[in-house]
Amino acid sequence: MNKISENNRLREKYPTFEVPSSLYNVIHVNRCSSMRELQLLIKHVQECTNFTIDTENEKSNGKLALIQIQSIPQQLPISIILVELAHLPSDNDKYNLIRELFMLIFRPDNKLYSWGDAARELQPAASYDLFMWPILATIINVQLHFPNWYMWARTRCESCSLSIHDEDNDTDNVNTQDICHQPSPYKPGEAWALQKAMVYAAQLFIDKSYTCSHWAAGLTSKNSTLSETRRNTMIHYALYDCFSTTYLVKPIFQQWTFDKLKNTSTTELFTSFEPLPVPTKITPPTQKNRIKNLNVQKLMKIFGCDESDLESVSDDDGDEIYLNQVIGPVNNNELAGEVKQLVAGGEDYELVAGGEDYELADEVNTEEVLATQDVQDINDDQQIESNEPAQYQRKSSYQRRSRSAKMRHNRKHARQQKKHRFDHQIRRKFYHRFKSFMIRRILRLYQIPFVHMKKDQDDVVVGLRNEDIRRQADHDLATTIFHRRSFYYYKNKYQW
Ligand SMILES: [Zn+2]
Repeated sequence: MNKISENNRLREKYPTFEVPSSLYNVIHVNRCSSMRELQLLIKHVQECTNFTIDTENEKSNGKLALIQIQSIPQQLPISIILVELAHLPSDNDKYNLIRELFMLIFRPDNKLYSWGDAARELQPAASYDLFMWPILATIINVQLHFPNWYMWARTRCESCSLSIHDEDNDTDNVNTQDICHQPSPYKPGEAWALQKAMVYAAQLFIDKSYTCSHWAAGLTSKNSTLSETRRNTMIHYALYDCFSTTYLVKPIFQQWTFDKLKNTSTTELFTSFEPLPVPTKITPPTQKNRIKNLNVQKLMKIFGCDESDLESVSDDDGDEIYLNQVIGPVNNNELAGEVKQLVAGGEDYELVAGGEDYELADEVNTEEVLATQDVQDINDDQQIESNEPAQYQRKSSYQRRSRSAKMRHNRKHARQQKKHRFDHQIRRKFYHRFKSFMIRRILRLYQIPFVHMKKDQDDVVVGLRNEDIRRQADHDLATTIFHRRSFYYYKNKYQW
């Protein structure tokens, strides 16, 4: 069955998921937004720490065109923000307000819920200079957590639980038509479509017929080439992808039964999220999670600045609010641990101590994570040959060996490593003005745990430890990352 007829079949079979329009305000962020609108929006998102996020790509070129962000506030109405990347204002003041908006939404300690890999979807927007990359807020891919919750919830559903036993035994006489919650139509590990998830868990229909649309054509009357009817249907679609994701967050992370979900109002589902624990089994702490353990204020404390210094490290383009928002209680033990880690990182300590640039602090975040990772790697395979400083204090047999034995070991190991260091590689074309240190710095910025890097004619070749890491790096690093445009962006950013 093709997608359209499947969509129609579901539309006929299930009631449509509706959120009363009194519960939300739609705010378009584009060149028609007024300063007043943007200021009010900033005020609103300052009070929120949880958001749902989604994106849409333009049909004609596949490029990221729309970012939808739904706030999950303490009190209704919620705001649903539609950022039209192809129609951003050229006006500096407005652009700065939009930047401020993103800084607030993406600030560390915020949670961003999404259906799918939002970080990957958002990466192309990093070049708009609206937010720092990588994003410091925690991005939680609800899609990954859905299957386990769904399986569990079926065991708690009275009529379903009876039939689960039969399904497990593969008996032929199971009539799944009578079951209120069908067994998963997916293989283990396969990703659930949001539409399917809503149908299976809540017996509600969401329309998916506008997934592929001209999202860059403009959604408000002043900037659009689309008819009003068309625009309204597209907006509706864009909102409901966010709404549906939000709808499933509490049930999944607070382990609700289907009955509880059914008997809970949308109002409750859409407001006042307490910090929800994320099951660690499904998402082990990643580099990105660890990065958040070190925030700006902690850095300030580490380097003996007080709050009045915060302003002096921010640049002049409206980051002050962001920096103030970062402040949270600091635990001294935690801090001591971080100082140790920072010192272990060597050169980075000086970098921040002398630095006046907030961006540098961000960079240290990344470095710190990489340093931790490296210590781990060294312990894993005694690897020394690497681009990273190797001055970590290890209490291993390796250290107690004689100097010549160590050198022998190093040479032998280095030879072996050299032979294999590009076994797992990715290649990116580079603009000739990129120097090696710049490339390394960008690789670290993107948290690519590279073993080695070299230039090969027009290509940067990045060696990685294994195939899994290679695949992840290939995914994380845009193909245009070292192109000319990127060179000028980073040159400007880091004052090279
Ligand atoms: Zn059931």
